[in-house]
Amino acid sequence: MQRITVLGATGSIGKSTLDVLARHPQQFQVYALTANRQWRLLFEQCQQFKPRYAVLLDADAAEQLQTQLQQAGLATEVLQGADALAQVASAPEVSLVMAAIVGAAGLKPSLAAAQAGKRVLLANKEALVMSGEIFMRAIQAHGATLLPIDSEHNAIFQAMPAGGNGDLAAMGVRRILLTASGGPFRTAPLASLKEVTPEQACAHPNWVMGRKISVDSATMMNKGLEVIEAHWLFNASADQIQVVIHPQSVIHSMVEYVDGSVLAQLGNPDMRTPIAYALGYPERIESGVSALDLFKIARLDFEAPDVQRFPCIALAYAALRAGGSAPAVLNAANEVAVAAFLERRLGYQSIATVIERTLAKVSNTAVDTLEQVLAADALARQVAQEQIQIC
Ligand code: NAD
Ligand code: MG
Repeated sequence: MQRITVLGATGSIGKSTLDVLARHPQQFQVYALTANRQWRLLFEQCQQFKPRYAVLLDADAAEQLQTQLQQAGLATEVLQGADALAQVASAPEVSLVMAAIVGAAGLKPSLAAAQAGKRVLLANKEALVMSGEIFMRAIQAHGATLLPIDSEHNAIFQAMPAGGNGDLAAMGVRRILLTASGGPFRTAPLASLKEVTPEQACAHPNWVMGRKISVDSATMMNKGLEVIEAHWLFNASADQIQVVIHPQSVIHSMVEYVDGSVLAQLGNPDMRTPIAYALGYPERIESGVSALDLFKIARLDFEAPDVQRFPCIALAYAALRAGGSAPAVLNAANEVAVAAFLERRLGYQSIATVIERTLAKVSNTAVDTLEQVLAADALARQVAQEQIQIC
């Protein structure tokens, strides 16, 4: 029996994770479930999975949950605050941690899991974008295992040679072909992008996801963050990662080898596949995802990304090439700009402008420690807020 902590249990990835776990009660036991402030859903999840701990960031929500659990006679203990997230991610009883908090807030608990030598199932790409070097070092130094949940990176992981040592040349890998759906605005008239609303941006053609990643998919900053994520996970340079628009989202990414072979992983666009892969690894377990019907899909299309339409892709490549604090600054400015867009304080097209200006204003520094990463993150947030006032 393996014990698991699910960070961000009430989110899109968290719910899909619990769906898969419920199919394998003999194999997995839920140790802790965490959320920001959604105590009602967390309560329902506690009723079903009876975890040892439930953690909420918000103090009032934690109190509400505590009362509900007591009334229901459940033994789950409620903890509150950011330190408690790290505590349940690193507890000795736990062997697996699903890191599915959205944004920079997930960095500390995800890193705590790495430092405690856990098998880390990483959905929280922002953590790796911010602190790639520190994170990968922690995984190595503490004998942890990092398994990507992002569907593209999970696909790449599956298409890479098993037990590869991260030396792409030695493995005969030439390039990573990172697929992208192109989001809801791939073919929209450029002039119409001025008027884009949060509702339109969140209506993704193929995936149902949290609001932040949905906006990132619309601007394609999601793909930009994923380029940086792939760099750290697979030791690939910016030049070795090619974004390929593939509107059907059936191929989840590919690895190109020096002999001309291209290995792809295909499947229905359902996050339960990569989640089940990482939970069962190296075995394969049932995920509840329906079989791929190639006759129904009939055709697969590919096109090059349009950087005029999607300036965020170029900003992310530039940040990766610049290194240092630039990816953390990019990520922080994006989080602030997306939040402002969702609150209707910023236009859709100004998201890229705010990120570009923030990158230009914040000088690039070395980020060898977590404190340096968090300082760059804080400064970038402040500068991005100022830019939002001007936009
Ligand atoms: P979501 O918004 O649906 O859920 C986020 C979860 O994090 C919730 O449980 C929320 O309570 C929790 N949370 C939010 N802010 C928090 C904070 N400050 N402190 C503690 N907990 C907090 O997001 P999601 O779509 O599930 O995405 C989660 C992560 O997975 C993101 O990093 C996203 O990029 C990544 N991801 C998601 C998908 C997808 O299909 N949804 C696919 C690939 C990668
Ligand atoms: Mg993805």
